[in-house]
Amino acid sequence: MAEKLELSRRWRLAPAPCPSLPHRRLGIQSRLVDSTAARLALRQRSSAQEGPAREPSLPVAVGVGSRASRPRPHRPCAGGRAAPAAAMRHLPYFCRGEVVRGFGRGSKELGIPTANFSEQVVESFPSDISTGIYYGWACVGNGDVHKMVLSIGWNPYYKNVKKSVETHIIHTFKEDFYGEILSIVIIGYIRPEKNFDSLDTLISAIQDDIEEANRKLDLPEHLKLKEDNFFRMPESKLVNGH
Ligand code: ADP
Ligand code: MG
Repeated sequence: MAEKLELSRRWRLAPAPCPSLPHRRLGIQSRLVDSTAARLALRQRSSAQEGPAREPSLPVAVGVGSRASRPRPHRPCAGGRAAPAAAMRHLPYFCRGEVVRGFGRGSKELGIPTANFSEQVVESFPSDISTGIYYGWACVGNGDVHKMVLSIGWNPYYKNVKKSVETHIIHTFKEDFYGEILSIVIIGYIRPEKNFDSLDTLISAIQDDIEEANRKLDLPEHLKLKEDNFFRMPESKLVNGH
């Protein structure tokens, strides 16, 4: 229990303990994305009104990027605090990548499984994006688009020099989806990373995060992004075809 709490404290789990075993290999039908592919896939998109997303000609798009031209309304985060500029300037942020294994220690037992992105996808995030808890939309393969909360946090296994990005989709799935392509758009910021004194306060904070995400995502301005073409991928670009 103590270990679970320690690992879950900042709302995310650390990745596979052995760096020589890339967690990509552990996924169902996982595939390698080389660094050239990652660079090619990294690009910025313009606003939703400009039509369908331009997809890279790769099976797995990595770190799609923000829509920098979109005006940034002031959005206070939970508790009325202003969201940090380093979070807001990158939002909405579109990202797609394979779901890989993390440490697998505890988040499912707490009822909040978090789908982890690979290191490569995490590295494609803007280096100055604030760590903390965000909300947005998520879609596995070409499935339905669901609400999500997402954690961007530091990874103690790598001595806090690497971030991890983990998505909890607010939906009950029948089975795990390791190796699938997860597409997300991050829309808003909820709070910074925190330490928790007990499992109860941790769970209660996560429930608050989920409530906050549920509320915010019902706003008409956010519902629009749920319908974004970004979430409709050609079949050929899906790893498992669904
Ligand atoms: P890991 O440490 O391997 O990431 P988790 O305990 O965090 O393990 O569980 C994450 C996995 O659970 C995801 O990769 C996914 O396959 C599965 N999963 C099932 N339901 C969800 C959900 N609602 N949100 C996120 N992941 C989910
Ligand atoms: Mg996880």
